Amino acid sequence: MKRRRSQINQAIAVSAVLLAALFCLPMLVVTPFRSALFGREEPVDETETEPPVPFAGGDLDASRILRVLKGETVEEMDLGTYLMGVVRAEMPAAFEPEALKAQAVAARTYTMYKLQTGGNHGPDIDICTDNACCQAYIDEESARANWGENAGAYEAKIEAAVEETDGQTILYGGVPILAVFHSSSAGLTRSAGEVWVNDLPYLQAVRSPEEGERIPNYYSRAELTKAELKTKLQTAFPEANLSGDPGGWLTDAQRDPAGTVVTVTVGGVTVKGTQVRGALGLRSACFTWEAQDGKMIFYVTGFGHGVGLSQYGANQLAREGADYREILTHYYTGVTVEPYQG
Ligand SMILES: [Zn+2]
Repeated sequence: MKRRRSQINQAIAVSAVLLAALFCLPMLVVTPFRSALFGREEPVDETETEPPVPFAGGDLDASRILRVLKGETVEEMDLGTYLMGVVRAEMPAAFEPEALKAQAVAARTYTMYKLQTGGNHGPDIDICTDNACCQAYIDEESARANWGENAGAYEAKIEAAVEETDGQTILYGGVPILAVFHSSSAGLTRSAGEVWVNDLPYLQAVRSPEEGERIPNYYSRAELTKAELKTKLQTAFPEANLSGDPGGWLTDAQRDPAGTVVTVTVGGVTVKGTQVRGALGLRSACFTWEAQDGKMIFYVTGFGHGVGLSQYGANQLAREGADYREILTHYYTGVTVEPYQG
């Protein structure tokens, strides 16, 4: 009888402990937030936000530290953080994820190429944030201000593009290539030799599928008076004979199958279409012209030098289901995409 009672007491005690636990557990969970729930303690300053977590990225990018020239100052940062800034600045964040990855790998490769070849800034600086010299760069705060309500989603897309391609580099013969890129081509990219001085085996003309009607300012127009045209052409090509009617100043255009001017004769001097593009400030070297009311009108297709990866073309390939490796091996001839250890 006694034993039985003690068993009952034991059972009651165990139940009491369990019951107590049942009631107390939620309190344990709630307690840390009690001040917020019941407002008994000092009110939390709601303007105080968590400090932004620096982008960590993948291990390979994180292990490579760059000395980046930003205006007048040199800042040390890891490759992943630097690439975040480049991708934010160089490609619209609304683009397809695989196109953003292709851009991240091209930017990483361009950076590795600069490190390998000594770059433009001597032994103490690896790369700069001036797009006329190295690659464009924009920090997170400025990018977020530009993106407005899409900022969170866009930043996350770019983080994924950099992190999921950690260390991936475009190689030709085992070394990083000069991974140049441009905004949009006229349906065909251009070989390096057509645009610059030297040809490179991995920078050849390939088909590019961008759809003009989906691209802002894909078709543009430039209007120059006779005097403006003469000044610009004469400055760029001092040997040219620009007498007589402006209708005869530009002749004998040789075009690639997409209509881009490879060479053209300016006042008796044969020059590259790219040089005329530069002299007149046209958006690309794919142009035609006609005289109209004493002016010369240039009709231009695409934007940029046309060499290497076309960003809008990459976006179209991604829409059609290509991944970033397929995009890169399409635009850069005979390359592999893999981590570079050098
Ligand atoms: Zn630079």
